[in-house]
Amino acid sequence: MDIVPKILIVDDLKVNRMVLQKILAEITCEVIEADSGAEALNLVEDHDFALLLLDVHMPVMNGFELAAKLGENSKTADKPIIFVTAAASDVKSQLQGYKFGAVDYIEKPIEIPILLAKVKIFLELYEKKAWLSSAVEELQSLNAQLQNEIERRKEMEEQLRTMALTDVLTGLSNRRAMTKIAAKELARVRREGGPLFLAIMDVDFFKKVNDTYGHEAGDEALRVLGRLSQDFFRESDTVARIGGEEFAILCPASAGTEASVPRFDEFRTRVSETEIVCGEDRLNITVSIGVVTSLEENGSFESMFKIADKRLYHAKANGRNQVVLQ
Ligand code: GH3
Ligand code: MG
Ligand code: MG
Repeated sequence: MDIVPKILIVDDLKVNRMVLQKILAEITCEVIEADSGAEALNLVEDHDFALLLLDVHMPVMNGFELAAKLGENSKTADKPIIFVTAAASDVKSQLQGYKFGAVDYIEKPIEIPILLAKVKIFLELYEKKAWLSSAVEELQSLNAQLQNEIERRKEMEEQLRTMALTDVLTGLSNRRAMTKIAAKELARVRREGGPLFLAIMDVDFFKKVNDTYGHEAGDEALRVLGRLSQDFFRESDTVARIGGEEFAILCPASAGTEASVPRFDEFRTRVSETEIVCGEDRLNITVSIGVVTSLEENGSFESMFKIADKRLYHAKANGRNQVVLQ
């Protein structure tokens, strides 16, 4: 970024301003003139000056008074000021100038190399400051972009994690999620005691549902079964679709074994009584359920699963639409 620094010359005498203009023509800068303190105060509102060259002796508002006013304005308070003074200005008035924000003095008649050297130093400082603040701005914007990207990735990871554990058709947990939750629950009941029920449920004659009403009706039946089971079982229970038309239900039985067992049969009845609507068709399905408790089987989720699955097979063999507990 190339910026041409601006210098403000404030002097009531045109000839003085012209001398300064001529000297400063050697430097790459834009020189703006003001013939009074009032005009200078107007100009600083519209321009960002790198340096101000103020004549001390001016009518109405002298250089010191102008410097004091500039110091009150937050926009100009830290602008470097060089006072241009009459020859051999005394030390006392120089000290007064520093109080008003002067950073340097130059005496008339002006020695060109000295003025140029001083001005160059301030312009270099100005350019470095401008470069630094643009670099800081760029860095802040990059940092903000990076933060956004991190947030976006976190959200994506969260979505992927949820997707990996969710069954798309029913919105229930999938087999992977069930395996994870079951391992955690088994560890908990091992510590705290109490039974844990695992039920494996399979839709009866589901192939016939598809064959009779079509695949879309079959899908709708699975969605309805998902909703029914989620509504029926407790928040602390886990319902998952673990295969095509196969579901698993994991229930920590805080109310005790006796109270929990009939719930599966109650649910089986609820399913058989629910009318499933798909387009013009009205259909009913039934389910067979095999149940195991963690008290019978102190092993892993896999071994509980095998027993529940075997009982499900018995439920099918015994005529379907029933719950088998042993
Ligand atoms: P059973 O009572 O012995 O369980 O008989 P079934 O017909 O339910 O059992 P089978 O395993 O022979 O058939 C299951 C059918 O489920 C076959 C398959 O086309 C269907 N199926 C599996 N996943 C889906 C699905 O996501 N949507 C639909 N519509 N059908 C599915
Ligand atoms: Mg089936
Ligand atoms: Mg099946």
